[in-house]
Amino acid sequence: MKPCAAILTIGDELILGDRVDTNGPWLSRTLLEHGIKTSERCSVSDSIPAISKAIIRLAKLNSIVFVTGGLGPTEDDRTTEALADALGEHLVHDDDALASIEKWFEARGLVRPPQNDIQAMRPISSEWIENKAGTAPGLLATIGNCTVVCLPGPPSELQTMLATILPDVTAPIDCTGPVCTTEVRAWGMPESVAGEKIAAFMQLQEPRVSILMGKEGIVARVTSADASLVKETVSRIQELWSPWAFGTNEATLASSIGKLLVGGSVSTAESCTAGLLCDAFANTPGASKWFVGGWVTYANEMKMSQLGVAGALIDSAGAVSAEVARAMSEGAVACSGSLAAVSTTGIAGPTGGTIRKPLGTVFIGCTVHGVTTVREFRFTGTRNEVRQRATFSALQMLRFRVLDLDVPTMCWQYGEVFA
Ligand code: ATP
Repeated sequence: MKPCAAILTIGDELILGDRVDTNGPWLSRTLLEHGIKTSERCSVSDSIPAISKAIIRLAKLNSIVFVTGGLGPTEDDRTTEALADALGEHLVHDDDALASIEKWFEARGLVRPPQNDIQAMRPISSEWIENKAGTAPGLLATIGNCTVVCLPGPPSELQTMLATILPDVTAPIDCTGPVCTTEVRAWGMPESVAGEKIAAFMQLQEPRVSILMGKEGIVARVTSADASLVKETVSRIQELWSPWAFGTNEATLASSIGKLLVGGSVSTAESCTAGLLCDAFANTPGASKWFVGGWVTYANEMKMSQLGVAGALIDSAGAVSAEVARAMSEGAVACSGSLAAVSTTGIAGPTGGTIRKPLGTVFIGCTVHGVTTVREFRFTGTRNEVRQRATFSALQMLRFRVLDLDVPTMCWQYGEVFA
């Protein structure tokens, strides 16, 4: 029996490691949500023989092959010719495809460069697919019993195009039916603790539960064809991972804080994270309703002039100290008028550590409704890992305080927390 789908991503940049393939994993996940399992994913260079050979091989083994990239107007875009080669056909010019490219330029008040004409070519037996998010039309062809779908490389174009064609191109495939997947997201628990808490679920065949560790925390992935079983399992995992779990799927720590801050607002006072907290808030749609702004105060003078931190305090306690983290957070509230504030001051490395304050020491302060909490974190990792881990931990700490929860002093993910 044939496996269902294969994915072929094209580009020298993928093969040589200059760009990470995100289209392949995204396609596999999206197809699985529609009950189509990917049997194989591979990448080839921008070479007609390599692309053609891969298409022919995958078409023999699969009911559908998705090809991404190489549909543009430049010299290194060779997918259309390679598809013609695989089909043993010549190319024809398609007036309707050209009209749609023309329309795309016109809608933006642009003149179509003549180089884009080439994107209206297609193998004679194939059909073109409109690209609503860019200029490169997709292509749809049949090789034996296999449907070959060529999609543009830019992720936003690929995703928009797939959404419009997926039901039609997958209708003839004998798939298992839609598969429902939900991801539970958490930050702060060590992975071993997270695994232990949901060990019983991870042994089940139905639903399938797996744990993924990433730089943005821990994820439990729950998958089943039974949507209500997924829902039930997700809420059980959220309970077991409470209070570390902050949401599902697209949720971020910042977005979960935004939801909790009904009618309230937050500001930031950052030293070692230098804008990462601001970025996390500003990345959240609708953040202007609750995020008022922040300060990056790297130098002591900035901490003093912008946030009102006393020079004598910096001299006595040190810039990296619980006292300064507290003064920064309280200064941000005083200067911005926000309901809450979060501050960071630490030693991200690779130099600057001492015996009392080793590399990775970060003091995080949180002021919520006039009450300030400070914790000392010791993170592991490189300079940027420390900065990122401090950012996510600061967000989690703020979330705990907004929920009126204590901030546990124990072993956290990537480090330890002291009072
Ligand atoms: P265009 O008309 O934009 O050239 P195209 O179909 O020819 O579209 P490519 O030229 O192969 O696409 O890729 C365009 C851009 O899309 C690449 O520079 C890269 O940023 C992105 N891209 C291509 N393939 C992938 C992939 N597999 N994963 C992530 N990004 C990709």
